[in-house]
Amino acid sequence: MLGLGIESTAHTFSCAVIEMKGKKGKILSDVRKIYRPADGEGIHPREASRHHIENSSLVLSECLDEANIKVNDLDIVSYAGGPGLGPCLRVGAVVARSLASFYKIPIYPVNHALGHIELGKLLTGATNPLVLLVSGGHTMLLAFLNKQWRVFGETLDITLGQLLDQFGRSIGFASPCGKNIEELATTSSNYVTLPYSVKGNDVSFSGLLSATKSVAKKSKVDACYSLQETAFAMIAEAVERALSFTRKKELMIVGGVAANKRLSEMLQDVCKRHGAKFFVVPLKYAGDCGSQICWTGLLESQIKKGVSLKDTFVTQSWRLDTVKVNY
Ligand code: AMP
Ligand code: MG
Repeated sequence: MLGLGIESTAHTFSCAVIEMKGKKGKILSDVRKIYRPADGEGIHPREASRHHIENSSLVLSECLDEANIKVNDLDIVSYAGGPGLGPCLRVGAVVARSLASFYKIPIYPVNHALGHIELGKLLTGATNPLVLLVSGGHTMLLAFLNKQWRVFGETLDITLGQLLDQFGRSIGFASPCGKNIEELATTSSNYVTLPYSVKGNDVSFSGLLSATKSVAKKSKVDACYSLQETAFAMIAEAVERALSFTRKKELMIVGGVAANKRLSEMLQDVCKRHGAKFFVVPLKYAGDCGSQICWTGLLESQIKKGVSLKDTFVTQSWRLDTVKVNY
């Protein structure tokens, strides 16, 4: 079975083709074009959607060529229905609807966060993990129970990705800034005390952001190092409590921030203490990509024959814990 997945929730426009055989999936192609705002600026939704419109046909044709297939070979098409930026989501949905209606291919809206998790499970082999989803749009701790992902902790304000990106932009990096901060952080070991805010099993990052900006006026490297140590320690505390509560024997980390080595190092220590296996999504598939949408659409197609075009919605605030997972 061949699926096409289209991702366009925020900065990335991506198409991927996956071949599904039984429970296995083989990624045949995953092509991406990423909108880059000017240095020091965040994503401008209208500009990002313009970028997606301009690049969509090129990305789609490259993706089909790389997979060595034609549109007619596709069994399903899926697209990210949310959560995300409205103008960006609509571009992916329009491309998917056009293909589905012209070529009569079943179409599936996919929850973007669920996509991160399902692709993570496919690529790491985790079966029943506690999931840490840390990206530009999410900071969530999740466990699966009775056909739904349940939230065991989340951010009360900005996400971990936003914390890194907003701080990075304030010291002149271009968004996304996580990788630059990680590199600068390795050049310091001077910890400056910063606000540490874990409330129950939730975290709050906005006070930490303001305080780190002040530290950066004296030393950018100490600020990067201290920011990572503080934010990741907060996450590690919430993960440890959730592991202990759920007694899960697996932890899987997905989303763009999963690329960070220091975060993995801290979480590996937590896993050791709790006898849990640690899984991290491969770097290439940590950030937003068509594969996450494609694979989740293929899983969905095992139990459902697609949705009618009038139900091909986009929802900016489509929460993962409202999605029923029936496959
Ligand atoms: P996503 O929304 O899943 O595409 O993830 C994007 C987020 O991942 C952005 O906030 C990036 O700054 C962050 N990110 C990417 N690479 C790294 C890294 N090496 N360390 C920390 N954050 C990262
Ligand atoms: Mg994402």
